[in-house]
Amino acid sequence: MTVNLLDFDAAGLEAFFAEQGEKAFRARQVLRWMHRFGQSDFDAMTDIAKSLREKLKRIATIVPPAIVSDRLSDDGTRKFLFDVGGGNAVETVFIPEDDRGTLCVSTQAGCALDCSFCSTGKQGFNRNLTVAEIIGQLWQANRALGADPAGERIISNVVLMGMGEPLANFENSVTALRLMLDDNAYGLSRRRVTVSTSGLVPVMDRLRDECPVALAVSLHAPNDALRDELVPINRKYPLRELMAACQRYLEKAPRDFVTFEYVMLDGVNDSDDHARQLLELTHDVPCKFNLIPFNPFPGSPYRRTPSPRIRRFAEILMNAGVVTTTRKTRGDDIDAACGQLAGQVRDKTRRASHRVIDIHEARSR
Ligand code: SAH
Ligand code: SF4
Repeated sequence: MTVNLLDFDAAGLEAFFAEQGEKAFRARQVLRWMHRFGQSDFDAMTDIAKSLREKLKRIATIVPPAIVSDRLSDDGTRKFLFDVGGGNAVETVFIPEDDRGTLCVSTQAGCALDCSFCSTGKQGFNRNLTVAEIIGQLWQANRALGADPAGERIISNVVLMGMGEPLANFENSVTALRLMLDDNAYGLSRRRVTVSTSGLVPVMDRLRDECPVALAVSLHAPNDALRDELVPINRKYPLRELMAACQRYLEKAPRDFVTFEYVMLDGVNDSDDHARQLLELTHDVPCKFNLIPFNPFPGSPYRRTPSPRIRRFAEILMNAGVVTTTRKTRGDDIDAACGQLAGQVRDKTRRASHRVIDIHEARSR
């Protein structure tokens, strides 16, 4: 049985090396080769003794999930589809902006939490991704984007906001987060790595204690009756408990606010009164709001709130002094917008034929 070294963070790799009678600094060298230099070939690790390289080749592999499609949207958003075996696929989206490049990473194939407006939720839960599958998305995206370890970072920010609920796959998500933060791996700042959760209250406390990074909470409703309907996990952890968990999180967080995500559903959660209820609800939690225009998917019962209504909603929050942004809908021509990630290989390749430019074609232009 070989071991996939992408499954280890620094401490795990050191422990594995120790079991083999190898020193900790060797583990760090290999960690750098794998993650900083994107190397998967032991023979290329030139500062490692040949005998150790031969041993590693016998007992270990470095295998990220395979890219099954790689597509570029008109607006520069790029979506990767990864095969994670057993007929499952997950999606990763790269969003370039003027001052940063954000990679939106998946943590589960499917999701068990079944939010009513989410395409991933509608496909049900398949399984948790392994560490290698989570960090492998970053590994592969860096390579595909032509990242140069000596040059400027192309991926400066990571958000665990793709498919799945990161806090329902806590151990693997945190091990992957540690690699993102490790100077021998990706060296990202805690402020530039964000976990998005639908509100698993006890696990929010664990994240705060074990690996505090920036936090986004998917709120979507200002009262329990509505949130019970949209985000069913609310029945277990209602808003009062969620707000208290946000306050506790901020005691140790790298940023001094929580980002509340709020999907704008026409006629459902988007009235002036909903905005006022939100201000009341979040009064004691230092926060920013990010309004997300609903992204439709086949079979969904909702419509996107019209832009003037979104502006009015944002205005009510801003007039009360709460910083509010509205997410630009990007990548929707390749179904890469929030909540549209479904990871079905067959569907996606079929749809790829018309409007979307295949990445290989795009490169040669
Ligand atoms: N499970 C985590 C992270 C993945 S979902 C969470 O729920 O926070 C990432 C974000 O996309 C969440 O805020 C989610 O509510 C939002 N989202 C889901 N479906 C959407 C849709 N159809 N349109 C717009 N946003 C959506
Ligand atoms: Fe799961 Fe997040 Fe989708 Fe809810 S919104 S079903 S928690 S992925």
